[in-house]
Amino acid sequence: MKSVLIEGSGRMGRGVAYSTTQPAHLLNVRAEGMSAIAGEPAHFADWFSDRGGDSQGFAQRRLFADYLGEILEEAVSSGQTELVHATATRASHNDRWLISLSDGSTVEAIALVLAIGNQEPARLSAFSKTGPRYIANPWGRSANVAIEDLAETGGAALLVGTGLTMVDLVLSLEAAGHDGPIVAVSRRGQIPRSHADFEPVAVDADAVPAGDVRSLARWLRRRSGQVGWRAAVDSLRPHSHQLWQSLSNEQQRRFLRHGRPWWDVHRHRIAPEVAQMIAQQIAGGFLTVAAGRIVSAETRNDGVDVTIRRRGSEREETRRFAYVFNCTGPLQAIDRTKDPLLRGLLDDGAVQPDDLGMGVLVDGHSRAEGAERLWALGPLTKGRYWEIIAVPDIREQAAEVAEDIAKELAQ
Ligand SMILES: Cc1cc2nc3c(=O)[nH]c(=O)nc-3n(C[C@H](O)[C@H](O)[C@H](O)COP(=O)(O)OP(=O)(O)OC[C@H]3O[C@@H](n4cnc5c(N)ncnc54)[C@H](O)[C@@H]3O)c2cc1C
Repeated sequence: MKSVLIEGSGRMGRGVAYSTTQPAHLLNVRAEGMSAIAGEPAHFADWFSDRGGDSQGFAQRRLFADYLGEILEEAVSSGQTELVHATATRASHNDRWLISLSDGSTVEAIALVLAIGNQEPARLSAFSKTGPRYIANPWGRSANVAIEDLAETGGAALLVGTGLTMVDLVLSLEAAGHDGPIVAVSRRGQIPRSHADFEPVAVDADAVPAGDVRSLARWLRRRSGQVGWRAAVDSLRPHSHQLWQSLSNEQQRRFLRHGRPWWDVHRHRIAPEVAQMIAQQIAGGFLTVAAGRIVSAETRNDGVDVTIRRRGSEREETRRFAYVFNCTGPLQAIDRTKDPLLRGLLDDGAVQPDDLGMGVLVDGHSRAEGAERLWALGPLTKGRYWEIIAVPDIREQAAEVAEDIAKELAQ
């Protein structure tokens, strides 16, 4: 039996994260943590070392795409996997799965796995009428065109969101030679912290308070004081799925509302060289990071006039930007997806949103609830696992799903 890999972008192994061609875009996990193969922790580190890299260092993301590409090419040349270059537009189940593709053909399968990754950022209503100077998808072609234009004109850029996507944009603008002002704004103005060496200190699951976000936050603060915040945050990694599932729906929502901005910037850290570059941009006055919210936006001939209200202030400031980039990160509301396959599955009731509406409702084997032989991987399963967006988590999930499929098909 073989598997069919349907890839819509024509770039096997290069999803949103790894399709970048920008050398300045580094992995945010050390090479030693980026093996794609469960049970072979040094798989990427060895590959990287063979090419002169440091297993403790942070590889270029475009290089990681080459690594993934090689693994997939091996699977294809072994005859175990067939690659189809097309977008899956629809899937229906009737005894078997029938998947319709953008080129008009179909694929029949006994089992279907949704591994479609992150969805474009949510629409920002303030910019719904601002036209081409508003870049809704920071990972798309229009973002590159805007960056080139900004580099040429030295115009001002507004980045809405101050997380990892903002960091990517600042790096791209710098690499393109942009020397104009950049303003990055988010509700709290928190930016990702830097990786640094620290002594890991493991913690037993029993020692961590489960079921209550406030107690967990108190524990984290105390523990950070004892062992340092990096050691405290990372010690939760082996227990993160269990901790997330110990929270009621209400507690999970509370975490998303109040804990997440803090958690994200401490947990998803950036390479020290990237952090240094961001610090230099701030110190040099090129990058301003602000806590606040967008009040309104109006299109002008040469840009967008954006009114921002700073956090804790009643005062509103209006400023013209040549371009505005949506850097709020991947979509967190599955019912707004533009992916035709997912849209159709939701509309047909074949998959249901999870209780928080972030992804697909799956069981403990990552099977879509209520569907026949349908699994989901990665960011789509955030509702169930929360920490399931980075390679170290996804590779374990992928291995478990593969095993579950083999078991199911052997029956
Ligand atoms: C900017 C950025 C940087 C990141 N950096 C890191 C990092 O350094 N380390 C880390 O561990 N994680 C990182 N991540 C997280 C990253 O998303 C995961 O590591 C990983 O790429 C997710 O894998 P995936 O296969 O689920 O999704 P993706 O890698 O996004 O792959 C999904 C694929 O599905 C295809 N697809 C989607 N819809 C369809 C359809 N209907 N038909 C056919 N094909 C379709 C897409 O073309 C794409 O190739 C980063 C994420 C982002 C956005």
